[in-house]
Amino acid sequence: MAKNRIDVSEPMQDLLRRLPAVDRLMELARAEACFEWVPAPVVVTCIRAVIDADRRRIREGGGVSEQDLADPAIMQRVKEAVRAAMQPKLRQVVNATGVVIHTNLGRSPLAEEAVDNLAAVARRYSNLEYDLAEGRRGSRYMAVRDLLCELTGAQDAMVVNNNAGAVLISLETIARGRGVIVSRGELVEIGGSFRIPDVMAKSGAILREVGTTNRTHLRDYEGAIDPAAGLLLKVHWSNYSIVGFTAQVPLKELVALGARHGLPVMEDLGSGTLIDFSKYGLLREPTVQDSVASGADVVTFSGDKLLGGPQAGIIVGRTDMIERIRKNPINRALRIDKLTLAALETTLRLYRDEERAVAAIPTLRMLTEKQDSIEARARELADHLAALDDARISSELVRRPSKAGGGALPLLDLPSCCLRIRIRGVSANALELSLRRNDPPIIARIEDDAYMMDLRTVPAGDLPIIASALSAVLQTI
Ligand SMILES: *Cc1c(COP(=O)(O)O)cnc(C)c1O
Repeated sequence: MAKNRIDVSEPMQDLLRRLPAVDRLMELARAEACFEWVPAPVVVTCIRAVIDADRRRIREGGGVSEQDLADPAIMQRVKEAVRAAMQPKLRQVVNATGVVIHTNLGRSPLAEEAVDNLAAVARRYSNLEYDLAEGRRGSRYMAVRDLLCELTGAQDAMVVNNNAGAVLISLETIARGRGVIVSRGELVEIGGSFRIPDVMAKSGAILREVGTTNRTHLRDYEGAIDPAAGLLLKVHWSNYSIVGFTAQVPLKELVALGARHGLPVMEDLGSGTLIDFSKYGLLREPTVQDSVASGADVVTFSGDKLLGGPQAGIIVGRTDMIERIRKNPINRALRIDKLTLAALETTLRLYRDEERAVAAIPTLRMLTEKQDSIEARARELADHLAALDDARISSELVRRPSKAGGGALPLLDLPSCCLRIRIRGVSANALELSLRRNDPPIIARIEDDAYMMDLRTVPAGDLPIIASALSAVLQTI
């Protein structure tokens, strides 16, 4: 402290002396109508934070003027701090990145129907574990079990918190203390530190990697089968691709090999889809139905990737396997909650009619939307911006590909349409920051020093939000 005092120059000392006391600002805050519903401790914390930040800026010579320290200016900063503190941290954003299943932005938005059922179940009591026909205790999995069997052709099904959990509990149940034979090329890391070898270690199963990164043959699996072997595992590459001189063993052949040696076969599909995307002009992804039909004993996949539902891990397969997984005590720790279940059931119901699913489930709708339809929305946004009638803002349509995201279809470029937006006197970075601080925040990307919005992931209802955010930016310059 003593040293600080010596270092601080006279004008700096003066500014530091001008910093108001917390009590006095508290007094001023009490007179503000906008603080009426704000808990007093929140106001105090914000006042302290503002004063501390100002003190720091003064000490660092950060251009604080006397005016900045006048009551109205300080109170303005307190108001902003209080507004930020009172806002939920987790909130809605506008995704203008074009990445459909954006893991940082909540992956899949839910279908309206799913949201409605989720809200209804959340608001009241529900028959979560109550059998209405029998009038006694029931199982929470009944909500989706028959539906999943109907949609995938599997004998039995259950669900857990997420697919990482589905893989963990399946391995723990089937192969704890036993060898799990898997191709080297499939030892993937999905984002967020989910690595197949690590999950396997946590499950107590013993990894037996076979083949090479680019080529694995049936004989590689066969050669690794010994009395300690407990499972043949296939893992979807998800977020990368092996191209060129490659070889993998089709699931069907693994199933036949497993049958010859009395070993079960599991497939972690990762994303997992119930519809054939090639019908919509996209790359073909193996469907869950394909995996079940190939004879896999257990198939796991996510609820919130290509399926377009809530975060969940879905496990389908042979009755005896699923029964064992369901009874695993770990299931209690991984179990799906009622809100997720409500949203998942409604999402799955939509799949009974594929056309309806593609229209109602946002993830499917966005993935299958054609470029001209996206372009129409880009033009609409351009019209909104023209209506601002300000010569400083300009926009330009550009065709760019968007990505599926979520570790799904990594090679797929979806032809899309972006709006490149420029405001004279505002850099792309400054524009990005302003819009990210908007309420709701708008997230887009910068390409070649220009601000770009990909309209694939922006529903029509978000266009006025974007226009008014840009209008606000224009007012501040
Ligand atoms: C995404 C993914 C997971 C993890 O699924 P979450 O639902 O995110 O837990 C596991 N395996 C593969 C192959 C994946 O792509």
